[in-house]
Amino acid sequence: MIQALYIHIPFCQKICRYCDFPKMVLAQELHNDYMDALIRELTHYEAKLRDIDTIYIGGGTPSILVPDQLERLLDQIHRIIGIDQIKEFSIEANPNDVCESFVEIIKRYGINRVSLGVQSFDPQTLNELGRTHHAEDVFRAVRLLKKYRLCTNIDLIHGCASQSVKTVEADMEKALQLHVEHLSCYDLILEHKTQLHHDYLHQRWSPPSEEVIIASDILIEDMLKQAGYEHYEVSNYALPGHECLHHLHYWNLDEYLGLGMAAASQYDQKRLVNPTRIKGYIDSVMRYGYATTTPEPFDPEMEFVMLGLRKLSGISKRAFQERFSTEVGVCFPRLSSLLQGPLIGECGDQIKLTPQGMRLANQVYLELFEEVLP
Ligand code: SF4
Repeated sequence: MIQALYIHIPFCQKICRYCDFPKMVLAQELHNDYMDALIRELTHYEAKLRDIDTIYIGGGTPSILVPDQLERLLDQIHRIIGIDQIKEFSIEANPNDVCESFVEIIKRYGINRVSLGVQSFDPQTLNELGRTHHAEDVFRAVRLLKKYRLCTNIDLIHGCASQSVKTVEADMEKALQLHVEHLSCYDLILEHKTQLHHDYLHQRWSPPSEEVIIASDILIEDMLKQAGYEHYEVSNYALPGHECLHHLHYWNLDEYLGLGMAAASQYDQKRLVNPTRIKGYIDSVMRYGYATTTPEPFDPEMEFVMLGLRKLSGISKRAFQERFSTEVGVCFPRLSSLLQGPLIGECGDQIKLTPQGMRLANQVYLELFEEVLP
């Protein structure tokens, strides 16, 4: 049963220096063809969307769409999905795109959550990341979203060369002044084929020390917990009752459908990916009514554990047994020795990472899945 719908808008004003998401610089001439294809693909899957309760429009930069393009997409969503069944309807936005007309449209169509790509408030860090907004844009955007009673997430990044523990603290102080319901605090990951990676290879960029990164992680967690936020996933914090339901579907390994260029879907024990080039995606949908997909490796038992351990609540042994008709310890024999160590613990039916294990999650996965990884 598919429970979540993801819709990908790949266009961006400018490519950020750290980004490896499927995206492309603004290509106005393709916008209308892309939106036509997206609406056609959405219509094709109508029968599969009866049970969804979350929708997430991500990117790229969905807020870059002109009102007419956004309204056409939202109109079609309303036409084929019973919007009353949707508990959470999110859209991503760049802070400098959030204006009264954008907010008025999304509110009118039942979007109830906006995720802002803030990353930092510090001009030097924003410049290092290649972002186009300023701190004032964020404050203005959040004021507007509050006026329309929209639940707000802000994404923040640390681990930039220009950041110290002090500047991260200053960023967190500003973030807390916003009183948003949800914060995603990511470590900067140096992804291949990004501008930052290129600079790193040519010794024009280097990350801060491991000590600064760990101290920043601890500081962020302390400041957010003191302010009343619950740390419910490796990188995610929410005021009580404001956890992201859409992302919880991913971490619970629920089935989801992804629409648009390079979007991934997971259902019927398969993971499928749409064409990763825009012309290939548009041509495919216009020809068949849906995008031809490529299957990706999918190991449900391993993913259930790996994604589930990202949550602070961890995984339920009973849920694993019910889902896969075998015990988690039988499936992953290294689990019992890991449970003796400091990285992973057991509490009744739940298995979860310890605070130290959260910081060393990749090490836990390598040990846990050693016997099943290729
Ligand atoms: S980080 Fe976001 S806004 Fe920047 S290039 Fe990537 S998708 Fe576009």
